[in-house]
Amino acid sequence: MATLRLENGHVLTMEPGAEVISPGVVIAEGPLLSYVGPAGAAPDTPGATVVDCTNCAVLPGLVNAHTHVSMTLLRGFADDMPLQPWLEEKIWPTEMKLTGEDVYWGALLGICEMLRGGVTCFNDMYHFYRDAARAAVDGGIRACPSGVLLGFLPNAEALVREARDFVAETLAQGHPRLHPMLAPHAPYTCPDALLEQVLHYSQELNCPLHIHVSETRTEVQESLEEFGKTPVERLEMLGLFDRRVCAVHCVHLTDRDIEVLAEKQVGIVHCPGSNLKLASGFAPISRLLRAGAVVGLGTDGCASNNNLDLFQEMLLAGIVDKAVLGDPTTVPALQALAMATREAARVLALEDLIGTLRPGKRADLAVVDLSRPHLQPLHSLPSQLVYAARADDVKLTVVEGEIVYQEGKLTKLDEAEVIAKATECARRLMA
Ligand SMILES: [Zn+2]
Repeated sequence: MATLRLENGHVLTMEPGAEVISPGVVIAEGPLLSYVGPAGAAPDTPGATVVDCTNCAVLPGLVNAHTHVSMTLLRGFADDMPLQPWLEEKIWPTEMKLTGEDVYWGALLGICEMLRGGVTCFNDMYHFYRDAARAAVDGGIRACPSGVLLGFLPNAEALVREARDFVAETLAQGHPRLHPMLAPHAPYTCPDALLEQVLHYSQELNCPLHIHVSETRTEVQESLEEFGKTPVERLEMLGLFDRRVCAVHCVHLTDRDIEVLAEKQVGIVHCPGSNLKLASGFAPISRLLRAGAVVGLGTDGCASNNNLDLFQEMLLAGIVDKAVLGDPTTVPALQALAMATREAARVLALEDLIGTLRPGKRADLAVVDLSRPHLQPLHSLPSQLVYAARADDVKLTVVEGEIVYQEGKLTKLDEAEVIAKATECARRLMA
């Protein structure tokens, strides 16, 4: 079993209450962390691959708790439009032309970008999810693939059954880096019967659910008109929140919605970049956190962001909340960092595997080079990482104890080929 040893770093485990360990050592034996602690107490590891992390931060791999990764193909294709016309006139018609190969190469392009930026796990919802899962396996990243389920499609029921079969097969294969989910797109695109069917399959297979919730004011208004309930109240009534649910956006919430989401420990995914760009609003993160809700961060798809950079999302999550509330003390740096690591892992029901650096957990981590001028001098590691660091400061990314990115090079992918193929797919889609 290969051993990987990271030496001399500033180790931020993201375990609750833990201090920075410096100089710290992190050892991975095979896919698992075996030691995380001070250099002085570290065991010998003869024959290990050693990476010197002097002047570097060593932290848990970042977790992108919501994206549509293959939408990299639509990056910059339709910007500066309102959400509904953007979806109905631009995005959905183009997506009708997608093939599995498009999704595969689009996903790989996104995976290249994420591994370079220290992201070791992403939660995906899209078409041709088997191809996205194949891309994740080939790229060496951890993923929660799921098929987007839309009630208005003529073959909606068959698609739900296919998504169920995919989850069942993937769980049976037991791939260590794939954690499939079921993903009804949103309350406004899914009738009760579809949501009930998905809930039934989620119980049968014991897999989490992934759904957009209360993204826009219009969505909430229409839900109140049609059902007499907010989207959150409707999902609660249907029993979805009795399962592990990853609820994306949660921008427009009533006080009662916040209570329900916190009480049911629904995993909320805050996507500040996407919400700001589509002018959807800004999720009441401080109120959710005060209520005890679980909140992680996601980038959303590249058509609405337009990147997969979690450093940018951490910065936005931290600074926009301060501006919106007129309170510079909300969402401090360590909290933003937790939302991109430990809390995002909880959102995905993967808290026993990833999200913090602790012996016994999977060895998913990111190493950030702090030696460049914009990251010096170093007073506070969380502040540096959230307010000053950039995705391209990442120098090493490890998933399951395996180096997947190091100093400008992806170890499992030919980046030039991925960019060429993805560009070809995008051109064909736009033609
Ligand atoms: Zn989304």
